[in-house]
Amino acid sequence: MELERYRRQMNIPEIGEGGQRKLAASSVLVVGAGGLGGPLLYALAGAGVGRLVVADGDIISLSNLNRQFLFAQDDLGRPKAEAAARRLSAFNPEITVEGKQLQLEEQNASELLAGCQLAVAAVDNLPARLALNTACAKGKIPLVNGGVEGWYGSVQAVEFGKTPCLACCYAGTAPEEGGQALGAVTGAVASLMASVTIQMLLGHNPIPGELLFYDGKGMTLDKVPVERSPGCPVCGKGEKGLGIG
Ligand SMILES: [Zn+2]
Repeated sequence: MELERYRRQMNIPEIGEGGQRKLAASSVLVVGAGGLGGPLLYALAGAGVGRLVVADGDIISLSNLNRQFLFAQDDLGRPKAEAAARRLSAFNPEITVEGKQLQLEEQNASELLAGCQLAVAAVDNLPARLALNTACAKGKIPLVNGGVEGWYGSVQAVEFGKTPCLACCYAGTAPEEGGQALGAVTGAVASLMASVTIQMLLGHNPIPGELLFYDGKGMTLDKVPVERSPGCPVCGKGEKGLGIG
């Protein structure tokens, strides 16, 4: 590892050389390489997270380019996973980036998680979030979840058995509409997700049991407490739950 590349972040006391080596030894699954996934992946790749698995089944289209900064005009028509892996490998050749062109489902999620210490949901639909949540619960792999709509965004960090999971909060709620997206807002929320992810890889969850809520219009950031649901179909102790402590 070329330590010079990371010198400025190793100056941060909570990182240092020990933290840098920890990041280099980490593997993270990022589901979604779009408006949230792109800036988040740049931040993780730049920070030297050693292995990134990028899962996305979509093709790059013109209406992506207002916010999906991993891609350029001449990427139109290409698979996002492949273009993301190529761009990130060029950005930081020291790390391994694996692009997987697929839509996440419960069946393939466990396979994608193999060898990963953490997963990130940077998707725009609830079924994919909940599928990743279930797979992470089975492997007890921490999960960082983020979402945006218009000026607003939220971030949550799940540690199974300790904090509420996504099914505690969202099981049975209406699917997302996902119509409004501005790069300035998705980029800000993606940076918050990346900061939470890096801290969790270093062993510290900065928002346990809280939903971080970003208002990019009123320019506020709030933490809202969230609670575990005893009847949660994933982490609850009921007959369908996994009964995670
Ligand atoms: Zn739960």
